[in-house]
Amino acid sequence: MLETQTPKKVDLNSEKIWNNCLTNIKRNVSQMTFNTWFLPIKPIDINNSTLKVLLPSQFFWEWIDEHFNSLIHSTITSVIGPDANLAYIIADEKDEEHNPVFVKQEKAVKKSVEIEKPDFETYINPRYTFDNFIKGEGNQLARAAAGAIGDNPGGTSFNPLFVYGGVGLGKTHLVQAIGNKIIQNFPLKKAIYLSSDIFTIEFVEAIQSNKVNEFSNFYRSMDVLILDDIQFLIGKEKTQDLFFHIFNTLHQSGKQIILTSDKPPKDLKGMDDRLISRFQWGLSADIQPPDFETRNAILRRKAEEFGLALPTDIFEYIASHIVSNIRELEGCLIKLLANASLNSKKIDFDLVKTTVKEIATSRQVNVTIENITSVVCSFLNVGEDKIRDKTRKKEVVLARQIAMFLAKDLTRSSLKTIGLHFGGRDHSTVIHACTSVEKNIIVDESMKELVKKIKEKIELDSV
Ligand code: ADP
Ligand code: MG
Repeated sequence: MLETQTPKKVDLNSEKIWNNCLTNIKRNVSQMTFNTWFLPIKPIDINNSTLKVLLPSQFFWEWIDEHFNSLIHSTITSVIGPDANLAYIIADEKDEEHNPVFVKQEKAVKKSVEIEKPDFETYINPRYTFDNFIKGEGNQLARAAAGAIGDNPGGTSFNPLFVYGGVGLGKTHLVQAIGNKIIQNFPLKKAIYLSSDIFTIEFVEAIQSNKVNEFSNFYRSMDVLILDDIQFLIGKEKTQDLFFHIFNTLHQSGKQIILTSDKPPKDLKGMDDRLISRFQWGLSADIQPPDFETRNAILRRKAEEFGLALPTDIFEYIASHIVSNIRELEGCLIKLLANASLNSKKIDFDLVKTTVKEIATSRQVNVTIENITSVVCSFLNVGEDKIRDKTRKKEVVLARQIAMFLAKDLTRSSLKTIGLHFGGRDHSTVIHACTSVEKNIIVDESMKELVKKIKEKIELDSV
């Protein structure tokens, strides 16, 4: 039983389990979200399949329950098993036995199980709607086309709809909103959303388990296919080839295809020309960074969602200092809320200024596994194709290991994805590479220097 603010006894087993959960969560959220909302959670014990954790405040619970319920649920079931449950207590609640919140929470996690659709997982997140997507000059065309598709999937000339633009500008939100609208307007239509990364991984798994036909038929049976971040298919010829056939089947039968990318179709170097030309059949619409008014409107809208009342000048301060990325605008509000609630501080101008500064300095550089591979190869003078094939030559193995290590360190890619980028190696190979480099860095000063130099170059290239 818990008597004081910090639990005295931490069950080692629960700590291990929670660490495994954290590893998975980390891959799915930004560093900032992770630090703000997941690091403060402390495991207490595990009983049957119920993991009990300690949380700093009631507000904290409500926040993570609302925003990360399904992530937490899928994480604990994959780590603990299908009956997994999360129970929590609040740091200043004394008597857990009579803690009504505790009961409420168990219900909350179970609820998420019931909501899940039985047939197949659509991956369409109800959080992203047209209602909470703020229109602005930068997203006008994309927003209008998306709306039209939501009302008439497959029936407009926007097929495929190809939305492109920089990170954090709302591509995923917009295409998910189309999915939600379609589910609402046409409950019988089969719509699915997935990132191209996941698509590739599933495809590789299908090959390994001899289920390529099932895999392909599944996607061909959709009425609406939303494939996010199609640039991830670059360099993956087999996946591109399969997608080409799925695209054709869907398009010919008037099914809706929606794609996003970080660049326009013609700039997707390494993508099959047949696909590039198909991407241009419908409408390509870009999303540009939001102007001041749009940033301000987005902030106000998000603050309202978070139940946060702020004076006008604070909104304007944030909107004029965080200019290029909507995810960061949102992140700023979350951080303000977290700071205010965790440290019982008031949200005043000082707190706003420090928070904005923190965001500016922690700005994540946009490193991809491709950048990493190319820098590592040029440093070590190894051909990029060698790193992906089976060569066991010493210098190639070294380059491959360093590249894997840096991919783990600098990107949010899973071990599985990293393995895929290096010639379809499995996750244990990636782990082995990472540990080997980590060890070498400790014992070998020149190795440490080399990795440091490579890292600096990658970060410089990626700003
Ligand atoms: P991208 O996929 O382009 O990297 P996201 O769609 O993930 O960007 O957007 C990042 C965050 O910003 C999300 O939380 C999203 O809800 C929010 N966002 C982006 N654009 C808008 C908008 N126009 N109105 C409201 N929220 C937005
Ligand atoms: Mg996205």
